[in-house]
Amino acid sequence: MSVVKNLERIQQRIERACVKGNRNPEDITFIAVTKYATLEKTKEILEAGIHHLGENRDQEFLRKYGHYGEEATWHFIGTLQTRKVKNVIDHIDYLHSLDRMSLAEEIQKRAKRTIRAFVQVNVSGEETKHGLEIEQVLPFIENLQPLHKIHVIGLMTMAPNTRDETVLRNSFRRLKTLQQQIQALHLPFASCQHLSMGMSNDFEIAIEEGATMIRIGTALISDRG
Ligand SMILES: *Cc1c(COP(=O)(O)O)cnc(C)c1O
Repeated sequence: MSVVKNLERIQQRIERACVKGNRNPEDITFIAVTKYATLEKTKEILEAGIHHLGENRDQEFLRKYGHYGEEATWHFIGTLQTRKVKNVIDHIDYLHSLDRMSLAEEIQKRAKRTIRAFVQVNVSGEETKHGLEIEQVLPFIENLQPLHKIHVIGLMTMAPNTRDETVLRNSFRRLKTLQQQIQALHLPFASCQHLSMGMSNDFEIAIEEGATMIRIGTALISDRG
């Protein structure tokens, strides 16, 4: 299966989910997660017209950025180690994984411009997952006020690793409820209008539940068809 074929299928699935969830497809940004993709595949993705790319490791991000830096909008979606911030922060357009104050402070120190960030939330409370617990999110965001290099544009989550639709739907709903609560505060440093949620196995449900950015890797580059 070529990237183009996979993309066609994914786009059909996105459209169907939009109809079902009464969503406007224009409100949803498709991020191609290229962490499993070779440089060649990444090029195919760009040539297929997808310009939002996501990477989760600093080394691989910098490698891809070295080749396609100018051609793409870059989303950093993985845990970012504090000591790696200085290498990557000025090349990133969106950070999806803000999850601790030490990271925020390092960004404040190093970034030359404002960083659009998602606060990562561990909605399911699974121990293996990164991110803040739901109750920690608002106090965390309030503490970001003096750090003017960071603008919180939304919340991000990785749903539990399950096929159980009810469990997935509930996770996404809880994130959306929290996002709406924060957005309603009209904090100048945290407009919080976006929801980064939905991966290969659950993006349709995420769209139905309000995702504005979906992050898709496997379904895009898989050869299984
Ligand atoms: C790998 C990854 C994705 C994409 O997952 P797929 O299941 O391959 O679509 C999305 N978000 C994050 C944070 C990831 O690490």
